[in-house]
Amino acid sequence: MADASLFPTSSPKRRVRVLLPLPVGDGYDYTVPAGMRLVPGAFVRVPLGPRQVAGVVWALDPAGEVADDKLKPITAQYDTPPLAEATRRFVDWVAGYTLSPRGTVLRLVMRAGQQLTPPKARLAYRLPDPVPPGLRMTEARARVIEILRRQGGGPLVAADLAKDADVTPGVLKGLAAAEGLIPEEVARDAPFGRPDPHLPGRALSEHQAAAAESLSAAVHAGGYRAFLLDGVTGSGKTEVYLEAAAAALKKDPDAQICILLPEIGLTLPFLERIHRRFGTAPAHWHSDLSQGTRRRVWRGVADGSAKVVVGARSALFLPFRRLALIVVDEEHEPAYKQHDGVLYQARDMAVARAAQDGFPVLLVSATPSLETLANVEEGRYDRVALAVRYGPARLPETAIVDMRADPPERGQWLSPIAIDAVTTCLAAGEQVLLYLNRRGYAPVTLCRTCGERMTAPGSDTWLVEHRYSGRLVCHHTGYSIPKPDHCPHCGAPDSLTPCGPGVERIAEEAAARWPDARLAILSSDTMTAPGAMRQTLERMTAGEIDILVATQAAAKGHNFPGLTLVVAVDADLGLAGGDLRAAERTYQTLAQVSGRAGRAERPGRVLLQSYQPESPVICALAAGDREGFTEAELEGRAQLGFPPFGRLAAVILSGDNEARLTRFAHDLALAVPHAEGVEIWGPAPAPLYRLKGIYRQRFLVKTGRRVSIQAVLKSWLGPIKLPSGIRRTVDIDPYSF
Ligand code: ADP
Repeated sequence: MADASLFPTSSPKRRVRVLLPLPVGDGYDYTVPAGMRLVPGAFVRVPLGPRQVAGVVWALDPAGEVADDKLKPITAQYDTPPLAEATRRFVDWVAGYTLSPRGTVLRLVMRAGQQLTPPKARLAYRLPDPVPPGLRMTEARARVIEILRRQGGGPLVAADLAKDADVTPGVLKGLAAAEGLIPEEVARDAPFGRPDPHLPGRALSEHQAAAAESLSAAVHAGGYRAFLLDGVTGSGKTEVYLEAAAAALKKDPDAQICILLPEIGLTLPFLERIHRRFGTAPAHWHSDLSQGTRRRVWRGVADGSAKVVVGARSALFLPFRRLALIVVDEEHEPAYKQHDGVLYQARDMAVARAAQDGFPVLLVSATPSLETLANVEEGRYDRVALAVRYGPARLPETAIVDMRADPPERGQWLSPIAIDAVTTCLAAGEQVLLYLNRRGYAPVTLCRTCGERMTAPGSDTWLVEHRYSGRLVCHHTGYSIPKPDHCPHCGAPDSLTPCGPGVERIAEEAAARWPDARLAILSSDTMTAPGAMRQTLERMTAGEIDILVATQAAAKGHNFPGLTLVVAVDADLGLAGGDLRAAERTYQTLAQVSGRAGRAERPGRVLLQSYQPESPVICALAAGDREGFTEAELEGRAQLGFPPFGRLAAVILSGDNEARLTRFAHDLALAVPHAEGVEIWGPAPAPLYRLKGIYRQRFLVKTGRRVSIQAVLKSWLGPIKLPSGIRRTVDIDPYSF
C-alpha cells in the first residue's frame, strides 16, 4: 500500500498515538520499535499498566507532552488490514455527535478485539448438495442446516456452527454420520463469494423498473444523495433496492454495500433472496453470532472480500474499506436506536456516513418516520415512490370497530363484528391474524382481597402472568417467580387475578370459540427455543395455521399468502401514556400489521377494534390517509419545536440513593444555562423511575435546529463533577419524548 505517511525507518521521532477501545476520549502515545512500519489505522497491541490491549494507530507523530524516553513501545502489530480513513473519521464523528468517548465508539468497531486473532486449523462442516432426501429431521438438525444455508452451504467451523444453531456437538456428529454434513479441516476462514451483479434479477413491474432506474442513476452518478424509497407494503421494495446494489457493484466491482435491517428481519428467506440475486451468500451480521463467525465476517469486511453485508444496526460499525451504498430497510423501526453504551440512531448515522464519504444512502419503508418525511418535504432527501402492490395483490380494506357500540361479552376481548368476520374467513379456508402487542396472559396481576398489584422487587414495573410457564414475569428486568397461590401481601389464598389481555388470553378465547381451528401464538416469550419462531412463521406461510395470535413479531416484513383478515384486538393500546411519539408509532405498527393481509390474489381486510374511533390515528388508518396524518402530526411537532423541527436530548441521572439523587438533580437544575433557543425541563422522574433498586431522574433539553445541542450540554454538564454513586447518561435524539 502506497501511503505518504509511512515512517521512514530512520525517523528520529518514532511515536504514535493509539486509540484503545476503552471509555477514554483520547489515545495514548507509544514509541515504535525499530523495524516496525506503521500506517494510520494499523491494529497494534500495546501495554496498558499490567495488561496488553489491542488498539488502533490514530495519529503519527502526535504532539505529546511526555518525553519519548518515558513512553512505552508498541508490543506488536496485527496482521489485519488497517482501519480505513473513512471509518476512523466516522468513529470521530459519532463520538462527537453522541458525546461518547471516542474509545467507546472504537469498541463498536473492534468488538473486543477477538477478531484480530487469525484462525487455526479446525474441524468444519459443509452441506452436501443436495441434502440427502431420506434424512431424519429433528428441530436441532433443521437449525444446523438452516445456519449452513445462510452461509451458502459452508464450510463452518464445528464449534461456531454448534453455537449459532444452539445444538450440542453430538447433533453435528450424528448428522455427519447420517451423511447430512460433510466434515473437513479448515486452515482459514471460508472466503466470501464474489457477487455477480450481472445475473438477471427478477423481471420488474413497470413501477418497480422506474423506481430502480432513478436509484441506479444516482448510484451511477456517484456522490452523496439520500433517498426515501417509499413503497406500500408488498410493493417489492427489496427487488428495487437490490437493483441499486447491483448498480453499485457494476460500477465498481470492489464496492461494498451495507444493507441494514431490524434484527428480526434477518430471516432465511430474506438472505436467500439476496443470495439468488447475486449468486453468492451475503455476509450477515447481528448481535448473537459465535465468535468465529464474527471474526470471519469482520475480517472479510476489513479486507474487502465481503462485498454485500446484511446486518442489524451494529453492522454500520464494521471496518468497511470501500463502502459505496447503505440501505436502511424499515427505516422507521425503533430497533435502529441503540439503548446502551453509545446511544446512536443507526439510520441517522448511516446518512451521516454517506454524506461524509460521498455515496448514496437509501431509506426504505412503507411507513416512514416523521423525521424522514420532513427531510423529504424540505428537499434534503429525494422520494422514490411505489404506490401499488406487486402483481395482482391489492391493499386491504380497513374498517373501525367501535367497541362502545359493539362490545365483547364479559371477560372476552373480541367484538361480535370481529367474531363474525373470523368465522366467515375460516369457513372460506383463509387465515386470520389476531394482533395484540402484549406478551403473556395478562399485563397486570391484582389481589382481589387487598388490591395489591404484583410488582418486581425494587421496581415499579408490573409482573405479567405467563400461563403456559405458570410464572409471573417482569418484562423490563427479566425477574420471574412461579405464580404464588397466596397473595404475598395479605396472604389471602387463590386471590390473585389476571387483569387485561395478553396474547395467551386471546388465544384461549379463540380456542374456545373456534375449537376446530389450528391455532398458534407468535410472541418472543413462547418462542424460547431458537427456531420455534421460524417454525411458526413457516407453518403460517405454508397455510398450516388457521388463526395466528401474535405480538409485533409478526408485523415485520413477513409474507403469508393465505392471510386475508387482520384483527387489531386493541388498536388504542400504544396511544396511552404521555409519549409524543405514541401516535406516530401506533400508526406505523398498525399500518405494518395491516399490510400482512391480502398479499396474494385474495383481497385482505383489516378490523381495528377501538374505544376511541374518533382519534386521528385510528381515522387516518381506516381512511388510508397517511399524508393527512403526517401533516397533522408534523404541524403539532412544529408548534412545540420538537424533532424534526428542533433538537432534543435527554439527560438521565441514576443511583440507588433516592434522596441523594434528587438533591443532585436539583443542584444540576440550578446550573441550567439560560441561552436563546435553549429550553431545559426537569428534573422529573424518568419513565421506569425505579428499576432493580435504581432510581432515575430525567432532564429534557430542547434547542432550535441551528443550535449545537452538544455544545449546550457540554457547557452545562462539563464543569459539574458527578458525586460517587450517581451515573449520568446523555441521549441525543432520544426515541421517546
Ligand atoms: P415490500 O418489502 O415492499 O413489502 P417485498 O419486496 O417483500 O415487498 O415483495 C413483496 C412480495 O412480492 C414478495 O413475495 C416478493 O417476492 C414479490 N415480488 C415483488 N416484486 C417482484 C418481482 N418483480 N417479481 C416477482 N416477485 C416479486
